[in-house]
Amino acid sequence: PPILAVESVTKHYRRGSERIVALTDLSFSIDAPEVVAIAGPSGSGKSTLLNLLARFDVPDSGEVRLDGQDLASISPAALDEFRNRKLGFVFQQFNLLPVLSALENVELALAPQALSRAQRRERAIAMLERVGMGYRLAHKPGELSGGQQQRVAIARALVGRPRFVIADEPTGNLDSKTAAEILQLISELNQTMQTTFVIATHDPRVMQLANSVIELADGQRIG
Ligand code: ADP
Ligand code: ADP
Repeated sequence: PPILAVESVTKHYRRGSERIVALTDLSFSIDAPEVVAIAGPSGSGKSTLLNLLARFDVPDSGEVRLDGQDLASISPAALDEFRNRKLGFVFQQFNLLPVLSALENVELALAPQALSRAQRRERAIAMLERVGMGYRLAHKPGELSGGQQQRVAIARALVGRPRFVIADEPTGNLDSKTAAEILQLISELNQTMQTTFVIATHDPRVMQLANSVIELADGQRIG
């Protein structure tokens, strides 16, 4: 089966008596470790789609399948496994814990795994070195630039070697040069770690770098 399959997905919200359609009959699949951009203006359904891919929410109809498994009917144990091991997140605001060092932020992501403290530390350091942050292990987020924080956040998302990473506007808070560096890093990690990245974005450079682009308008796929 494909790594990820979205099949005829429809999702609506209710606001009072109003019915708001967020996604209509959306289908696509990802068959190889790719960088996939989800593009479209504000209100087009990007966040709704990310929420369904992360299984924060389930569709009204249609299916989201990971490795052939429908996320709506997955067992609680399999859902834990999915959240802890198969999926990583990267956010526009980085979302690092401010009181922890870069190293501690990354180590924390390995907490659900059956590893010794020393193994967690070793893997977290190796991952931080991989994103170019080996020289900033003891720094706290407030002592790092935006680009450095996003590198740490990417290390945190990838340290458990998830199959795929969901990124919501990962370059949205970065200047143009730093954004280009972060995209270069994502592309490199996609190729060397075989991680699939699904990136919701307005940034045309993400669309250039992506292997495929899912373009949304008013909850429908237009490209
Ligand atoms: P995007 O991420 O592309 O900005 P969203 O998925 O956030 O798009 O929104 C898609 C549509 O669904 C919009 O019309 C938005 O107003 C509506 N919407 C999103 N979340 C909710 C919600 N919790 N309740 C009601 N309407 C919502
Ligand atoms: P926006 O609508 O501006 O994109 P949201 O606050 O709706 O911002 O959420 C942004 C994204 O954060 C969501 O689309 C989802 O992928 C992710 N997200 C939401 N809740 C959680 C959570 N509890 N844990 C991890 N990620 C989350």
